[in-house]
Amino acid sequence: MNKKQLRKELVEIGKRIAEEKLVIGPGGNSSARLGNIIYMKASGIPFESAKEEHYIGVDLKTGKIVDGKLKPSCEISMHLGCYRVRNDIGAVLHSHGPYSVAYGMLGKELKAFTPDFIAVVKTNIPLVKYVVPSTNELAEVVKEPIKNHNGVLLANHGLLTVGSNLKEAFYRTLLVEDAIKTIIYARALGVRMRFFTEKEFCEIDNLKAESYRRKLLSKILKD
Ligand SMILES: [Zn+2]
Repeated sequence: MNKKQLRKELVEIGKRIAEEKLVIGPGGNSSARLGNIIYMKASGIPFESAKEEHYIGVDLKTGKIVDGKLKPSCEISMHLGCYRVRNDIGAVLHSHGPYSVAYGMLGKELKAFTPDFIAVVKTNIPLVKYVVPSTNELAEVVKEPIKNHNGVLLANHGLLTVGSNLKEAFYRTLLVEDAIKTIIYARALGVRMRFFTEKEFCEIDNLKAESYRRKLLSKILKD
């Protein structure tokens, strides 16, 4: 993938984020990695109107702008922090979906409860305490759980997911939002949620059929 293709994909996923109402107006941000450069949405540009030139190249190590005329989103340090703790991260997505924000109020980690959750998200989603957005402190609290989770709920704020590429990070965001929607429906029906135990999580994770499905899924995500 070259930078033109990467920026094109950032634009496309950005439009999907807006369509799914995962952010309203200029909120939220996305980034993707190309070698040692992170392309990140410019500050103040809503996803639905972001064009290729609105994705700004920033050096992963120094944090300096190396490609583009605008300032990257103020959450750049949160994104860079994720890439710096895990080499396998190719994209980071931060959204303000209503279900994620609502669930964050519970003060609890989101645990897997369907095989789909395990196949797509692959880890539980912890919650971090409320921290003022755009600060280094937020970058610090997010990077710790990201070392071994594929997403984190930000109390009174939203959700951040990571993936090997943009599609993977996007599907993880969609799945987390959908899972929380299911929890709300279950509660409306008056039932108590039952989450997978660690043993059940591992059983599904180790299923042969599941590894076949996962291979298919990773092929779809690469296309
Ligand atoms: Zn935010």
